[in-house]
Amino acid sequence: MTCREHGFDCDFDIVSEDEAELIEFVQTHAKSNHGISPSEEDVRKMIHAA
Ligand SMILES: [Zn+2]
Repeated sequence: MTCREHGFDCDFDIVSEDEAELIEFVQTHAKSNHGISPSEEDVRKMIHAA
């Protein structure tokens, strides 16, 4: 998934076979780059909405 797909002006692209790892990457990235702290559930919805 990419940030851009979710409305962020950001080219961050995350690819992982492991959903737990993917969620962790997204949470870390979102916090340090976008100043938001999505819950695991929020991230999961983002992944599956893509
Ligand atoms: Zn981003």
